[in-house]
Amino acid sequence: MSETTALRVEMSQESCCVCGIQFSIPDVYAKRRAKDQKTVYCPNGHKLEFTDYIVGDGRSVAGVINENRDLKATILKMTAELDQLQAKLQETEEKLNGKNPANSPARQKKSSNAAMKAARSIHQL
Ligand SMILES: [Zn+2]
Repeated sequence: MSETTALRVEMSQESCCVCGIQFSIPDVYAKRRAKDQKTVYCPNGHKLEFTDYIVGDGRSVAGVINENRDLKATILKMTAELDQLQAKLQETEEKLNGKNPANSPARQKKSSNAAMKAARSIHQL
């Protein structure tokens, strides 16, 4: 006696850019390969990459990757600017208080802390 089970799987229709064969793969699998950039093979063994796969909000995976890279660069730039502004603020505060800003250990420590914080936050992205 056999039993039948219905299984619903969303499939992604693909075609090989080398041989043109059309085939289907599970949508979840296609999205995962697009994200991790691992190679997928067509039924005839040609290597395929899903760099232009579209994510849920209509953006391509390649576009999202580029956007993330740009955002990281912006964060690094802004963190460096913040570090300079904090150092300048510290220097100004010390001038107002009549201290010599060039030899201030507090200024050097604060600058170092900002750089470490920036490195940590970029690493978490
Ligand atoms: Zn092929």
